[in-house]
Amino acid sequence: MQEGVLWQAVLGEIELSVSRASYVTWFKNTHMIKQRDDLVVIGVPNVFIKQQLERKFNDLIAATLEKNGLKPARIEYKIHTVDNGKPAEEESVLAQHTPKSTRSAGSAITHNYRQGLNERYTFDNFIVGSSNELAYAACQAIVAEPGTKYNPLFLYGGVGIGKTHLIQAVGNAVLAKNPDARVVYVSTEQFVQEFVDALRYKKNTDFAGFYRGADVLIVDDVQFLAGKEKIQEEFFHTFNAIHQGNRQIIISSDKPPRDIPTLEERLRSRFVWGMSIDMQNPDFETRCAIIQTKAQNHGIVLPSPVVEYLANLVQTNIRELEGALNQLLAFCEMRDLEPSLAVTTSLLGSVKTRPKHISARQIIERTARHYQIGMEDIMGPKRDKDIVVPRQVAMYILRSELHLSFPKIARELGRKDHTTAIHSVEKIEKESVLDSDIKEAIIKIKERLYV
Ligand code: ADP
Ligand code: MG
Repeated sequence: MQEGVLWQAVLGEIELSVSRASYVTWFKNTHMIKQRDDLVVIGVPNVFIKQQLERKFNDLIAATLEKNGLKPARIEYKIHTVDNGKPAEEESVLAQHTPKSTRSAGSAITHNYRQGLNERYTFDNFIVGSSNELAYAACQAIVAEPGTKYNPLFLYGGVGIGKTHLIQAVGNAVLAKNPDARVVYVSTEQFVQEFVDALRYKKNTDFAGFYRGADVLIVDDVQFLAGKEKIQEEFFHTFNAIHQGNRQIIISSDKPPRDIPTLEERLRSRFVWGMSIDMQNPDFETRCAIIQTKAQNHGIVLPSPVVEYLANLVQTNIRELEGALNQLLAFCEMRDLEPSLAVTTSLLGSVKTRPKHISARQIIERTARHYQIGMEDIMGPKRDKDIVVPRQVAMYILRSELHLSFPKIARELGRKDHTTAIHSVEKIEKESVLDSDIKEAIIKIKERLYV
């Protein structure tokens, strides 16, 4: 039998056995692409439908195919749009809020498809300390009631401090509670790439509908929207569609919205509509807890001096902290050694080398961030004390770390007069001895630069 005819027969039967809403939502725009003895391929308009057919309706489809004389070893669902001028219809299907299917066709899940999520990121294996407890609590609140309280949630902070882990944990937890939820995790880079492809191959409706139809949309590293006007516009519409539908948006970034360059004002303002949380670098206790827990996961209890040594060795980036730990554990295992302090220092003692290159911009950003002021303030004309001091500290660090000339330092901070730079550097030089706040600030800012 021809694919089209056969599939019509199958659909006809399915229509009788599921609710009207389920049929329209999940089956109406499907078709049969391939029919062989071993394999049947069904074309579906988008990933949600694919997911739903795989998870809930695979048995029903298999049974109905069999009634029509086809018993393939495998049924595949493939995202496939029919070019017969029906994009509007597809979009309206996508725009609907997940109508819960009223009938489940068995429990066999052929393929546990979770869009973009990695199951290894869970709340259970996330260690909570003072630096991340607020973010952790907000994420848990979202799982309890997505789309209500913190919408959007905007998490920002440095590299390797657990942003991706936490926001993915939300997605996994939402799905664990409600397997039908449409949870989409996407890195901004992927979003950008798909957008570009959609334009190039003119499959715009799929792209837009997919993201706009999510119940929980998680967008990682949104700072990569900088300088991409068209994509910011698309993202703006995506954001609105989801927010207006009281569905949940979670965003991560390495900097606060106000510091993302060339971010459209309307997006910037939306990003702070809900809740923004500055995730701090993990403190010493948290770093120790992370090391201890991860070592225990390998069945090893590390002596405290080793834990402390590692926690001091890597101070901000937890990914690097894990790396150092893994290096140590592998070394000890291969040579059948106990991970003593002596072994650890001889192996990792020289690891802490300074990164090759730190830019003036990074120093200024770090300083602004430390004082929780915006780049436009530190670079701008304001003379308030809480702006002037950070600016002077930044100049001091530019001098002490990069050995820049005073005219260059002035220019980096958007100033013409280099005598201000000389004065500032001298002032902070003196104060860093007398004033413990300034001294500590400088240490912290440098730590973040170098680790
Ligand atoms: P970011 O997205 O902020 O750059 P990630 O979420 O990718 O950082 O975290 C880097 C690594 O550190 C991941 O392997 C993650 O599982 C781990 N990690 C980060 N924070 C924690 C934490 N609090 N507890 C346990 N593991 C963590
Ligand atoms: Mg990340």
